[in-house]
Amino acid sequence: MLDWLYPNTCEFCGELSDSTICPACLNALARVPRPICLYCGAPTYGLAESGDGCRSCRGFSRDYDFARAALLRTPPTMELVHAFKYGRAAHLCRALAALLAALWDNTPQLRNCREWGLVPVPILRSRLFQRGYNQAEELAVALGGLRGLQVIHPLCRVDTGQSSQTRLSANERRRNARQAYQLTPGWREGKKTPPSHLLVVDDVYTTGATARACAAKLRLLPGVKQIGVLTLVRAG
Ligand SMILES: [Zn+2]
Ligand SMILES: [Zn+2]
Repeated sequence: MLDWLYPNTCEFCGELSDSTICPACLNALARVPRPICLYCGAPTYGLAESGDGCRSCRGFSRDYDFARAALLRTPPTMELVHAFKYGRAAHLCRALAALLAALWDNTPQLRNCREWGLVPVPILRSRLFQRGYNQAEELAVALGGLRGLQVIHPLCRVDTGQSSQTRLSANERRRNARQAYQLTPGWREGKKTPPSHLLVVDDVYTTGATARACAAKLRLLPGVKQIGVLTLVRAG
């Protein structure tokens, strides 16, 4: 009855659809094309795949072991991410998590190991209160459901007093990110044991500062052998 009164339509093409984005529009979003940098996951646009690093990751500390992203940052993709971030999580989450699951199946490090624990990048408590949910958490939980993986919360977001990073220099930005992500007390005190493989999950990989800062903290946990980063979108 409700479906008849309020038929669901795709927000992009207006066609009838069970979800906010229909399968055809989802398929049309630009994927990160191969070849990629096998370290940071950036497209190399023709250069051979290698783990030695590329223009976007060379010179940065190697806090994580590898990063992968599903989609390129294009206007329709960012429209989708914005919709997901600000209000319509439930409708979009399943479709977006399916993209991450497909990427999972195409990434040997992920596919061939069953020890992964998913770690959503935390957001500030005040932001969580405003939005009602953390988009990274929603993605991690949905992906965990699809691939039978546990979601753990060893990280918290600390208010460094720098809500906007835009006026900071690159060095200040890096330092700010390092301070912004900390281990939560129970994990810091060693009361909990993490899985040996930890995967940082987030919506967008921009400069990699967040991923590196989170990975650096996760490295402090005992018994961690590998840290990956999985995001929906890759910028740059
Ligand atoms: Zn559509
Ligand atoms: Zn790279």
